[in-house]
Amino acid sequence: MVRVRFAPSPTGYLHIGGLRTALYNYLFAKKNNGTMVLRIEDTDQNRLVEGAIEGLIQSMNWAEVYHEEGPFIQEGRIIQKGENGPYIQSERLPIYKEYIQKLLDNGWAYYCFCSKERLDKVRDEQKAKGDIARYDGHCRNLSQEEIEAKLKEGQPYVIRLKLPENRLVTFDDIVRGHIEVNTNDLDDQVLIKSDGYPTYHFAVIVDDYLMGITHIIRGEEWLPSTPKHVLLYEAFGWDAPQFVHLPNILNQDRKKLSKRQGDVAVEDFMKKGYLPEALVNFIALLGWSPGNEEEIFSIEELGQLFDLERVNKSGAVFDVSKLNWMNAHYIREASVERITKLSIPYLLETGYIQEEDLEKRYEWIEMMVESIKDKVSYLSQIPEQAALFFKDEISLEDQECHDILQGEQIPKLITVFREKIQKTENLDPTIAKGIFKEIQKEEGIKGKNLFMPVRIMLTGQMHGPDLMKIITVLGEKRIVERLNYVED
Ligand code: GLU
Repeated sequence: MVRVRFAPSPTGYLHIGGLRTALYNYLFAKKNNGTMVLRIEDTDQNRLVEGAIEGLIQSMNWAEVYHEEGPFIQEGRIIQKGENGPYIQSERLPIYKEYIQKLLDNGWAYYCFCSKERLDKVRDEQKAKGDIARYDGHCRNLSQEEIEAKLKEGQPYVIRLKLPENRLVTFDDIVRGHIEVNTNDLDDQVLIKSDGYPTYHFAVIVDDYLMGITHIIRGEEWLPSTPKHVLLYEAFGWDAPQFVHLPNILNQDRKKLSKRQGDVAVEDFMKKGYLPEALVNFIALLGWSPGNEEEIFSIEELGQLFDLERVNKSGAVFDVSKLNWMNAHYIREASVERITKLSIPYLLETGYIQEEDLEKRYEWIEMMVESIKDKVSYLSQIPEQAALFFKDEISLEDQECHDILQGEQIPKLITVFREKIQKTENLDPTIAKGIFKEIQKEEGIKGKNLFMPVRIMLTGQMHGPDLMKIITVLGEKRIVERLNYVED
């Protein structure tokens, strides 16, 4: 039975790389009828951010990356479900206490009373010599009496892993292959900190074991820690799970994705108006490929196709223009009802519509959104496209527009077009098309001389949404206003 986990630290927003890790865990669980656990790794008490757990869960829910066990939000509160809880590490301190005692008893861990000053000094000396900085083992061999005396005195301490000397640690990573490290290149890792909290390294081992995790799928930045984890499994006499380290996500310049070069928080993408299925589709392909040219996949399809064998070793470049292309695709495919609903907050924010419009002219809003939805890459661009329906005055985009409106037939065109619009009831795209046909027939004004001038008179631009839809959405009053304006 496959059991995976997503184990974020609640230090802020959900990073796009975090969402990818969560997604791959989710897809792997789906593919194998397994279970996904969400575990909150909050043992670094200095880095906690209030509301971060809620934010993480909300972002995951938005992306429809669901877990079966762990914390959930119910009626605005965090609750936990599952038989292997608690799933928030700060609530598991007695468990870590019990398990560290086992390692103290079997000789795989030891108390260390070294002061910060001493550790700094040792590190500086090692660096000055050009050695790698690591703990020098000062407290490795304290006698039981010495330890008890220091504990009795209330001396602060940490508990460290006692690494075997000069031992080759090996494991196989599903993406990275066979890995070997000598313990002489590793440090006697702190397992329990002076505040009594476990370090990430200790808690992760205990929890992955107790929660029955079979596959650890996580970012490449944890690969260097894995040999220590492998030793800890050995120290406890447990079998290690399978390891899967995902390639980094990179900026266009192939450096690790960072906030300085653009959005990295899932929330940012939510706010900009990306659709969850587009972001998920895009992220799924950052480090994995289905092995063919196809690029558009629903999360259900991904859940059937995903496999760890096709996860790449090399970093995946985050290409925003590709995301925009994909999002535009999903916006085009989505229903007008849905896109309208999602666009309303942006339209309210710019003041183009008011709350009362939602009751009074929802149908019109929907028609308006329909006429422009295919023109945007993400929904916060909707107001920009909608502007043409709301502005009282339009200005001509460039000289070419001016020139076109100087045409000989323009005064005639304005007169007949205005007359026909004023006579028409229940304007819609088909009726609008009919008006153009009539003008062609009756006045002999055709093609470029007909559609382009009308488009420019109504929008000020030579390009834009479908003209018949624009006419329908603008309606008689606004059209007449704009024609009169041009006439003057
Ligand atoms: N808490 C770690 C993080 O924030 C999780 C690492 C792991 O998955 O083992 O990324």
